[in-house]
Amino acid sequence: MGSITSAKSLEQDRASLSQSLDIVENIRYPLWVFDLDNACVLWCNKSSLAVWGADSKDELLGRDMSANMSLSVAKRLAQYKVDFTNNENIQFKEIWTLHPNDEPTTFDMVFSCFKLDTGRVCMFCEVTNQSDRDPESLRSAEALLHTSVNISLYAASGEPLYRNPAARSNVHAASATLEQHFSDQKIVNQLRNAVKDEVSAVTEVNTVNGPRWNDITARRCLDAVTGDAAWLISEVDVSRLKATEEQAQFLAEHDTLTRLPNRNYVSIYFQTRIDRHLSLGNSGELIFIDLDNFKDVNDSLGHDAGDQLLIEVSERLMQMFSNGNSVARLGGDEFLILLTSDHDQTDIEKTVSQLIHVISKPMVIQEREVQVTPSVGVALFPADGVNIRELMRHADLAMYHAKDIGKNNFSYFSKDLSDAVESRMSLEAELRSALRNDEFVAYFQPRVDVGSNLIVGAEALARWHHPKRGMIAPNVFIPVCEESGLITELGKVIFKQSVIAQRNWSEQGHDIRMSVNLSPLQFAEDELVDELIRIVESNGGNAHRIELEITESVLLGNDQYTIDKLHDLVAYGFQISIDDFGTGYSNLAYLHRYPIKCLKIDRSFIQSMDTAKPIIELIISMAKLFGLYVVAEGVEEEQQLALLRTYQCHEYQGFLFEKPIELELFTNILCNQPKKAA
Ligand code: C2E
Ligand code: CA
Ligand code: CA
Repeated sequence: MGSITSAKSLEQDRASLSQSLDIVENIRYPLWVFDLDNACVLWCNKSSLAVWGADSKDELLGRDMSANMSLSVAKRLAQYKVDFTNNENIQFKEIWTLHPNDEPTTFDMVFSCFKLDTGRVCMFCEVTNQSDRDPESLRSAEALLHTSVNISLYAASGEPLYRNPAARSNVHAASATLEQHFSDQKIVNQLRNAVKDEVSAVTEVNTVNGPRWNDITARRCLDAVTGDAAWLISEVDVSRLKATEEQAQFLAEHDTLTRLPNRNYVSIYFQTRIDRHLSLGNSGELIFIDLDNFKDVNDSLGHDAGDQLLIEVSERLMQMFSNGNSVARLGGDEFLILLTSDHDQTDIEKTVSQLIHVISKPMVIQEREVQVTPSVGVALFPADGVNIRELMRHADLAMYHAKDIGKNNFSYFSKDLSDAVESRMSLEAELRSALRNDEFVAYFQPRVDVGSNLIVGAEALARWHHPKRGMIAPNVFIPVCEESGLITELGKVIFKQSVIAQRNWSEQGHDIRMSVNLSPLQFAEDELVDELIRIVESNGGNAHRIELEITESVLLGNDQYTIDKLHDLVAYGFQISIDDFGTGYSNLAYLHRYPIKCLKIDRSFIQSMDTAKPIIELIISMAKLFGLYVVAEGVEEEQQLALLRTYQCHEYQGFLFEKPIELELFTNILCNQPKKAA
């Protein structure tokens, strides 16, 4: 409460007051001068003693009022000081409750500014009436004075009519109008136009503490004095709540790592911007970016490095598209860019190639130079859609297409892409039901001994017996099964049928080998070994007569997990062969590291035998060196077989002997061949 005055000068103030106020000493109304700085009465007349319940003037003047003053009274006194300092002529008429003898007594009071000779601002207090109002209105008047809610009354013109102490403590000046109070003139206009009787808003207001956010309710009323239209406005400061809310909203709409807008932001604000742009008759693009080798960085350098890389990429994107809000991160290594300026194809392609260039520039992460390239998909609006979800899906598809045609590339969306996806999706659904309905059957193709031309084995090949479309070949459904993971299910179905066929043939005296294809995905399954053993045992099969065909890609990782699994399978009796040999990356010299029994030379070599002769010869001789036996696939012509004979290739498979056929047919052929297996 201001600076405390020394005892000596307080005495001087008192002496000069009793002189100058001598004339009102005997007046009937209680009067006193209150020292706002020192919380004491500086001067009082006789009648005031009764109001304060004081025995004598000396006793009253000697009272330290700050001793048990409540915080709200202290605040109000401080407010009077501010009000009087700002405006010497201001007066306040208020109802005060004093407790002279612990009895609450209510008075109608007038407070005005009283300036001492020294220039100090004090408060002149007059009791105009001992109030005889009803308790209700007394309490409400009291509440108005004490509440921390800002309550003000403004004339329809915007001039202030009344403010409670809380409201006064916040305004810059007592004369502040509605326009000066609210930062947002929309609110003022709403009140001016007075269409509604009540207006509520959270809005920014100008206060002595700078701009704040207040939750306001303005109610239309009539001024009790003039009867003119007025606005009664109550306001509560919600700035802190608003700041927390804003932060929560920021977090909900932005990515914490890069601080870029996230998927939520995209679905709301990108859509609004697209709508606005379209309504002006313009077009634009949505660009989907996926980093090509991000996973490698994460795997080899760790997640911190991965995070740094993403931050670097997002900074580059923000720099390139100076409006940060058109770049978003969708999660992982996926970014999205919204361009809303009309571009022709050349502009778009220029932007995209610049984008690829910017992202592909090497960066230094953890003191290492790292480079990532992006695959980029572009969807145009309105041509490819007007809805953000649809556009994202289309740009995503285009991005996948860009990856397919060789990463570090870009592609536009086209209807063909979505048609392909749609038919793939329906094919996937059909395959699921086909699995449920047992529509898959194993066909068998003979494996033939080159020397004796007798069947020594069979390869099981899946066929889809479609109820309407008839027999469907694997090239139609195997890729979709691989992508969707259904291959593990299908693989087991075919494996089981093969085990049963092998057992039946063996029971009929045909001791031939059965080869079954294992997809890389199936091979990666933890339970693979147990599952295969379970199927063999529960169907009375013989693992020693079963060969599992894996592709070179399974061996690529060269990891202990793969090697252990192969050993587990071999330990149980299965044989392992490498399918489509020569098309992958296997180094012949490494093959001896794996427990492999057989190589199947890919049919592309057999079919271009003239040029492939040296390599066929090399594979066969190397395989023999490692104790492997060799099967030539896709033999269609006698000359091919003749050449294989000269290379002393062990077995062959191909249309020359027989196509893949159904079980009974195969069994018939077996029964008709001379009983002399290899
Ligand atoms: P694959 O394992 O290389 O199977 C040999 C493919 O070559 C078979 O095609 C067979 O019909 C075909 N073929 C055999 N001899 C000749 C010939 O003389 N000329 C020509 N042009 N082709 C010949 P199919 O049955 O269409 O199977 C294609 C591929 O589908 C298989 O290639 C295999 O990779 C996959 N597949 C088939 N069934 C299964 C299965 O049950 N599981 C897994 N994972 N893949 C399977
Ligand atoms: Ca095969
Ligand atoms: Ca093959």
